[in-house]
Amino acid sequence: MAGEGEVPAIGIDLGTTNSCVAVWQHDRVEIIPNDQGNRTTPSYVAFTNAERLIGDAAKNQVAMNPVNTVFDAKRLIGRSFSDSCVQDDIKLWPFKVIRGPGDKPMIVVTHKGKEKQFAAEEISSMVLGKMKEIAEAYVGSTVKNAVVTVPAYFNDSQRQATKDAGVIAGLNVLRIIKEPTAAAIAYGLDKKSNCKGKINVLVFDLGGGTFDVSVLTIEEGFFEVKATAGDTHLGGEDFDNRMVDHFVQEFKRRHNKDISGSPRPLRRLRTACERAKRALSSAAQTSTEIDALFDGIDFQSTITRPRFEELNMDLFSKCIDPVKDCLRDAKMDKIEVHDVVLVGGSTRIPKVQELLQEFFNGKELCKSINQDEAVAYGAAVQAVLLGGTGNENIQKVQDLVLVDVTPLSLGVQTIGEVMSVVIPRNTPIPARKERVFHTSSDNQTVVAFRVFEGERARSTDNYFLGKFKLHGIPPAPKGVPKINVCFDLDANGMLHVSAEDKFAGQKNQITITNDKGRLSKEQIERMVQEAMKFKYEDEQFKKKVKAKIGLEDYAYNMKNTMKVDSISSQLSPAEKEKIEDAIEDAVEWLARNQHAETYEFEEKRSELESIWNPIILEIYRSADGGRVPIQDHPPFTGSGSPFTESGSSSGFGFKLEEVD
Ligand code: ADP
Ligand code: MG
Repeated sequence: MAGEGEVPAIGIDLGTTNSCVAVWQHDRVEIIPNDQGNRTTPSYVAFTNAERLIGDAAKNQVAMNPVNTVFDAKRLIGRSFSDSCVQDDIKLWPFKVIRGPGDKPMIVVTHKGKEKQFAAEEISSMVLGKMKEIAEAYVGSTVKNAVVTVPAYFNDSQRQATKDAGVIAGLNVLRIIKEPTAAAIAYGLDKKSNCKGKINVLVFDLGGGTFDVSVLTIEEGFFEVKATAGDTHLGGEDFDNRMVDHFVQEFKRRHNKDISGSPRPLRRLRTACERAKRALSSAAQTSTEIDALFDGIDFQSTITRPRFEELNMDLFSKCIDPVKDCLRDAKMDKIEVHDVVLVGGSTRIPKVQELLQEFFNGKELCKSINQDEAVAYGAAVQAVLLGGTGNENIQKVQDLVLVDVTPLSLGVQTIGEVMSVVIPRNTPIPARKERVFHTSSDNQTVVAFRVFEGERARSTDNYFLGKFKLHGIPPAPKGVPKINVCFDLDANGMLHVSAEDKFAGQKNQITITNDKGRLSKEQIERMVQEAMKFKYEDEQFKKKVKAKIGLEDYAYNMKNTMKVDSISSQLSPAEKEKIEDAIEDAVEWLARNQHAETYEFEEKRSELESIWNPIILEIYRSADGGRVPIQDHPPFTGSGSPFTESGSSSGFGFKLEEVD
């Protein structure tokens, strides 16, 4: 455990739709709001001609820039291009995904006028980097260590790729933990098991576009995911779409116009529907207003909670089937479930809670922690245990033993496609196991190892993880050479396999060559460099916008000040002309040089200041002589005041523009 005053470790829920970051501070877990004040951040990255945007800024411009706005990277991470899920998803995305080397899916976008390709790890790293920045702004220091969560069903490759994304983002990933485990930790259910023995928990996670149900058992701090079920394409966006369809129909009835084929009005309507849907989780009815939605027609309507429920009833009911499936796979009856934990923003919908509670015969559901924050909350608790701050109150959580287990058995293929298990499923991680294998033919000098993950007896029915060969075995009759195989599963669930020829006393350490598109060390290194370059570019861009707005504000403030009679009446005609010419020149220059360099905007502003300041200061100095007391005059205060020093930041502020 680190000492007092050291940098805290954070917990990050890297979601398909939204991400959330939390930290242990002031004796409790705090969910960290982003720069927009939101407690979750869209997992969106957008590329434009001028800059890269992440989070809310990226999501807000999606309607204008759909092909270069990337989301759902989590659906791609650690998967191959030819994977059928990937193929199905590609059909739905507005951005382009192509087959890269080694069957790795690559996202293609245009950034600053050039075509660029990104691996899913890179996009996720940008989101993780944003979460890191949000945390750094909050705690006021650099953050390095983090616990990142992944779905319970993620395999080794997906976990590994998520870890790589963390490395690219400049994070030291202390551990990758499962989302349902994190949620159970958030509710302190592990502590409960310490006094009562084994407890069974059902985690119901309904997010933006995915639905995951997991049954876990917790015993003395050991978490075991017994079964998982769900629907990879069911979530909040589907409920939004139902409301969109409803309003499209209404618009047609009222105005005899069909907006269903127009992307921009649809996008604006969808944003409004998402807002309305959230409101209906606490209010009985809500109204929606969109100015000039279509053909200049304003749209205004009200929707009640019962109507919303009716629109979605089939989808809500569909959420119960995976619960049944999951319990069946876990060989558990619903009455054996001690706690039902709600996770994911969409479980805030009262009807969803009602149906689930009904299924569990009226049992109280765990929902005291915001459902879209529970995973990050648990990750932050885990983070503090693994290397966070030295606050002595951590003792409260320190006595928890947090152990994860292998979700599936790991083994190698032996003759006849037999799966020979080395690490059985549900072994607590980290784990290191060895097994001795023999050669199967006389004078065999090479042994090929094929590593699989799964429960089926036939290796090829399991999930293939990778292969490698051990060469240089001295010729001998079959069965004589003994090969010692070691499976080393680290705390993040990453697997390292090595083999050694014991008989010859010859040591040969070999690691699996992962042929599922894992990033190489060199690639990760390159991406880390690029991430730094991006960060630098982002900062440069922000500086430029700041300088541009500074100049604009300065010029307009001068103009406004000139309109004030008490000021202008004190200027000579020559002074007036000089100032007016300078303003006009600056405004014109700005219109022509929207993409000028930072220093050019600053120079231009200094030019204005050199004209304005001497004249205005003179008026100020003579204020005692009966002239206007300038400092009391309203046009001289506020942002971009012509009295601010050159290069000061008071003129800075992004202009808000409604985009959808
Ligand atoms: P994921 O884990 O899939 O990334 P979240 O758990 O953040 O996503 O869930 C996001 C979804 O939750 C969105 O569709 C959002 O509209 C929905 N949501 C958030 N808050 C509410 C609410 N109060 N009522 C209904 N839905 C909500
Ligand atoms: Mg989630």
